[in-house]
Order: sequence, then C-alpha cells, then structure tokens
Amino acid sequence: MSLNRKIALVTGASRGIGAAIARRLSADGYHVLVNHPPSEGTPTETLAAVKSQGGVAEAAPADVGRIESVRAMFSQIREKYGRLDALVNNAGICPFLEWDAIAESDWDRTHAINLKGAFFCTQEAARIMVANKTPGRIICISSISALKGGSVQAHYCPTKGGLISMMAAFAVCLGPSGITCNSILPGTIETPMNVDFLATAGNRESLEKATCVGFLGQPKDVAGAVAFLCQPEARYITGASLLVDGGEYIKHL
Ligand code: NAP
Repeated sequence: MSLNRKIALVTGASRGIGAAIARRLSADGYHVLVNHPPSEGTPTETLAAVKSQGGVAEAAPADVGRIESVRAMFSQIREKYGRLDALVNNAGICPFLEWDAIAESDWDRTHAINLKGAFFCTQEAARIMVANKTPGRIICISSISALKGGSVQAHYCPTKGGLISMMAAFAVCLGPSGITCNSILPGTIETPMNVDFLATAGNRESLEKATCVGFLGQPKDVAGAVAFLCQPEARYITGASLLVDGGEYIKHL
C-alpha cells in the first residue's frame, strides 16, 4: 500500500518542528521517512503519532552533519524505494552562546548540521529526483535569524542565511527539472530547542510582544507552510523565502 505513496524525507524529525512536519506530510498522503541521529535511538514518538493517524512512516537514521552517514541513508532510500518526492532539511542545532565564547568546534558542528548537512541531503535528493524526472519539492527550514541578529547566535545566523542563498542557487539549477527549492523562515516556535529560554522570566512575554499577532508559533504552523509548498499548486513558487513569524520581522522594520 505504502509503495504507491509519494515519499518524503524529513531530517531531524524525532521532535519539535520536524516531528510536526512528518505528521502533516503523512496526513497529506506521503510515506514519511523520519530522519534522526543514530545515537539517539528510534524516533518512537513521531512514528507512533503518524501511525495513530493512519499514516505510514519509517525511521531513517543518519547524522546529517557527517557526509558518509548522509550518503548511507540515501543509498538505503534508493535501494528500498527508488524514488523521493520531497525533502525537508529541518535538522538543526542552536547552542545559545555569547559571541566571545564560541569555539571553533561550536562553529564547525553548527555549520556541519545546519548547512553542510542540508547541502549534501539536497544534492543526494536531487540526484534521485532528476534521475526519475520527479517534479520534487526541496524545502529548507531556515530562520528569521537569517535576516536579523541574535545576541547568542553569531555562529547560528550565518547557517540560516546560507540556507536561503543555497535554496536560491538550487532553484536555478533544478528549475529546468521541475523541482522547486524554497526556504521557510520561522520566528519563535515553541519547541524543545527554546524551552529553557522561554522558561526564563520575561522572555516569553517579550517575544510574544515582538510579534504582530501577540502569540508564539507552534510546530504545526511551520508544518502547514511546508505542506503548502509541497502541493502541486505551488509549482510556480521556487527560490522563495517564506517568513512564518507572526509578523515579527515586519513589526521591527
Ligand atoms: P529541536 O526541537 O531541537 O529539534 C531538532 C531536531 O533535529 C531533533 O529532532 C534532533 O534530533 C535533530 N537533529 C539534531 N542534530 C541532528 C543530526 N546531526 N542529524 C539528524 N538530526 C539531528 O529544534 P526545533 O525547534 O524543532 O528546530 C527545527 C529547525 O527549525 C531547526 O533547523 C531550527 O534551526 C529551526 N528553527 C527553529 C525555531 C524555533 O523557534 N524553534 C525558529 C527558527 C528556526 P534529536 O532530538 O534526536 O537530537
């Protein structure tokens, strides 16, 4: 049954925004491959959530920060399914660090997962899509932090800016093959990534006030934008950057 479904790979889908994207794409009929770091074990919560809504999902272990791990995951995808219809580069880390405390290892790991991993996943996915003549969808989860500074994100912001420019470049490369490449830029979304930050007195209130809508986003808000870009109706949208931030960016222009 599931082999008739379109296949979507979502990186970093064991929790947070990636898990919501996996659930939403599964609700839209995709067979979802739930990527997660092998060291963290099976992403049981995401798999169970997809199953409970009648969907189909499988774990796709790989550390996206390591090229050999990415390539091994894609060779499994080629072998097992022989196709890929959508890739969502969502995996990311954001260790909050003051600018003068950022070590070379912090810079390297953040870039390896957030940007280099997304590049090699995109390259591998595009090879499968082009070979199959699939009008595929490639989406990077960038951030509002690509456009504005963050006091503890000097190593993170450039990875998110890099994703936008990388998607623009791939949009040019892959447009003739009918593949669209876009970036989504979330504002503050409540996930395990920022749970401690939001728990600190005053932070939640000031972030809510920073939006036009007066509340923080949820993972499903980003998942809805991904689902839209995966629709056939979105075929003319490529190289675009879509803010999903409750109006935070526009409020502070
Ligand atoms: P999160 O809750 O920390 O989830 C990150 C996910 O990435 C987890 O599933 C994690 O797996 C996975 N991951 C980490 N390193 C990985 C690796 N080397 N290989 C494969 N997967 C890996 O974060 P989130 O808030 O959902 O963020 C998702 C994306 O949205 C990130 O790219 C982030 O930069 C972006 N974003 C988030 C916000 C926000 O406010 N939350 C705003 C803008 C942009 P494990 O849990 O198993 O380690």
